[in-house]
Amino acid sequence: MDLRDTPEEAAWRQEVRAFIAKELPRSFKDEPLEPEDVAGLWDHPDMQTWRRKLVERGWIAPSWPKEYGGAALTLMQQFIMSEEMAGARAPAVGGMGISMVGPSLIVHGTEEQKKKFLPTILSGETFFCQGFSEPEAGSDLASLRTRAVRDGDDYVINGQKIWTSQAHRANWMFVLARTDPDVPKHKGISYFLLEMKAPGILVRPLRDITGGVLFNEVFLDNVRVPAKNIVGEENRGWYIAATTLDFERANSASSVVIQRHRAKDLIRLAKEGGDQSVLGRNPGLRLELADRMIEVELARLMAYQMVSMLGRGLIPNYQASMLKLFASELGQRISRTGMNVLGLYGGLYGREAPMKGRISRSYLSTLGSTIAAGTSEIQRNIIATRGLGLPRQ
Ligand SMILES: Cc1cc2nc3c(=O)[nH]c(=O)nc-3n(C[C@H](O)[C@H](O)[C@H](O)COP(=O)(O)OP(=O)(O)OC[C@H]3O[C@@H](n4cnc5c(N)ncnc54)[C@H](O)[C@@H]3O)c2cc1C
Repeated sequence: MDLRDTPEEAAWRQEVRAFIAKELPRSFKDEPLEPEDVAGLWDHPDMQTWRRKLVERGWIAPSWPKEYGGAALTLMQQFIMSEEMAGARAPAVGGMGISMVGPSLIVHGTEEQKKKFLPTILSGETFFCQGFSEPEAGSDLASLRTRAVRDGDDYVINGQKIWTSQAHRANWMFVLARTDPDVPKHKGISYFLLEMKAPGILVRPLRDITGGVLFNEVFLDNVRVPAKNIVGEENRGWYIAATTLDFERANSASSVVIQRHRAKDLIRLAKEGGDQSVLGRNPGLRLELADRMIEVELARLMAYQMVSMLGRGLIPNYQASMLKLFASELGQRISRTGMNVLGLYGGLYGREAPMKGRISRSYLSTLGSTIAAGTSEIQRNIIATRGLGLPRQ
């Protein structure tokens, strides 16, 4: 297998590089934002400028068809773009609207829904959060109990969601609710688009281990949602959700790209100061860093495998679970190695710390990555049964 760029891919890589060199706002080049800097990503004054530049080219949602404001890029082109963007530390502009709901609407939405939501997702006016998990329904999502009952032209929703990332900032939520409690659990769920300002929605932020707020509890008390905001047919929401979750898992490929740069940054940091460097004083770290680099390259190959399968029209199955499992655990290992490189400085968390506190923050924030979007145990079960053909317990 030849993993080098084809001439076309190399030309594309150059085009992306030239764009970044010309258009990425100076402030991001001087002070790059990382995924951990969630608040910074939102509030940064240059974020709108950067978004506009990407929108102009359709690069904000590169995989969407051109008629919906995308660039209809191939998966390999997108992957190369992610590599270059991550390499330049360009902040990701997007969110769940771009990566999950938009693509799901393109496949399953009505024309009216596409016209209403796709342009405003691109412009940033519509920002979605994901109302799937509930206190008693996470891994076993189909057990969800939030109810939606038809009442004239509306549905009335009652229930509770939890771990709803960004619900305190989002103005729309894609939400699953039970519309028929008397059929097998997968067959009585519907998928709705709900405006967060609708009366009866209470969002209660949950402070997480980083000290910040990423996710929330969301209480739904007689919330009315117009029937036209159902995606797909009533009681077929589980299958639409499966499409959305496929798009969510595909995101693991881009996380690999960021990890590669993080591991390289650590090596650079460990080498600083020559004989007096951390590496000079702690030769054992050499092996640890080498392991991380090998793992990063492995994850990259797994990401290529996914991209190439998708490009050939194949649907990754246990392969997606392998990548999700490996990449999320690798993110944690990289952060732990980072803490070993930092030594006592690892206790510093603010921007005055080495690497602006990024490692200490990711040491905490990556803890959730082996839970979010399907826990490691669930991924291992999928690999065991579908990949290895082992019997179900
Ligand atoms: C950072 C973060 C962000 C999130 N954002 C969102 C969001 O925006 N929207 C949203 O809807 N949800 C979100 N979630 C929720 C996430 O999807 C759930 O936490 C996840 O699916 C696990 O569900 P649970 O927490 O209910 O744990 P449970 O499903 O109760 O699992 C508890 C433990 O039991 C294990 N377990 C469960 N079933 C099995 C099994 N069959 N075999 C073996 N082990 C099993 C699990 O692996 C886990 O260790 C987020 C979570 C995190 C951590």
